[in-house]
Amino acid sequence: MISALRGLHPRPLDERAGGFHCTERDLSRSPHTLTELVAPGVRRIPIPLPIRGLSIVNAYLVEGAHGWGLVDAGLHTGEAEQALRAGLADAGIGIEDLKRVFVTHLHPDHMGMAGTLERAGVEVLMHTPEIGAAQRVWSKGHEAIDATYDWFERHGMPRDVDEGMRQAWIAMGDRVDDLDHVAGVDDGDAVDLGGRATRLRWTPGHTDYHAVLIEERDGLLFAGDHVLPRITSNIGLYPSSRDDPLGDFIGTLARVRDLPVKRVLPAHGDPFDDLAGRVDELLAHHAARLEATIAAVGTAERDAYTIARKIFPVLRSPHEERFALAETLAHLRYLERKVRVREVDGSPARWRVT
Ligand SMILES: [Zn+2]
Repeated sequence: MISALRGLHPRPLDERAGGFHCTERDLSRSPHTLTELVAPGVRRIPIPLPIRGLSIVNAYLVEGAHGWGLVDAGLHTGEAEQALRAGLADAGIGIEDLKRVFVTHLHPDHMGMAGTLERAGVEVLMHTPEIGAAQRVWSKGHEAIDATYDWFERHGMPRDVDEGMRQAWIAMGDRVDDLDHVAGVDDGDAVDLGGRATRLRWTPGHTDYHAVLIEERDGLLFAGDHVLPRITSNIGLYPSSRDDPLGDFIGTLARVRDLPVKRVLPAHGDPFDDLAGRVDELLAHHAARLEATIAAVGTAERDAYTIARKIFPVLRSPHEERFALAETLAHLRYLERKVRVREVDGSPARWRVT
């Protein structure tokens, strides 16, 4: 899932659109569904989400010489399943005609319906280490959620807010299908989508093992939540995260910036063409957020929740509470690794500028 926390540098996509195979105006848009042809042989299927501030996740239907593949699978609600089936019907196929679905990362709006597809005979693929991470996050025992509850308490989240966060996360898990078997793909390996050759690239940050697919022939980037056009991906630090998720994200953004990509197909928002321009905006956003984090720590010792509420004064749901604290902790960890802030043990733990 991504945060609805807006980037500091939003710019309408339309200013930069065009220059690829088609523009917004001549996209084939059926009056019956919202499915769009967004690149040669690639349709966007918008799938509704019951999440405040984040109403749609895009699944991409890819037609190749030997069949059909899908990238990302939506959160599993009745409305979402209807939208997916309608989108496939718009292309003249059903779920059973899909050969493979590639899931970019473990978040519920990407993985939710993968089990339904699996039971219809579709092969489910993910970046290999993300499979184990998904099993931990969606375990029926809620161990990862409980560990986060304790971790947030240590970082100053009030108990009632923390409990709301926990319940909202557990409820989200009810909309993620069980999966029997997911095939692992390693960094750099080929992923064939119905006869179209793509390659997996590990893009950590939004999740530890988030991955994108690159189709070199047409210059397409199936970006998942790595590079989004209007909002910024939530970069959060959790108890079981890699050491420095924001450091991972900044490093990986810089590496994808100059790939030979003509069109970015993001999981939220409209497809766009200027990858380097958007990466620069995201890097500037996090540079500004890092300075804002240092300013929010100020001259005192403060716990991370207090710092988070200075940066994000308005939070409208338990999910946004979680994103705000995890995002603030990711920025604090990054600054800690640069020796610009220091964590002081205590209950709650506090942070000070070095
Ligand atoms: Zn996500």
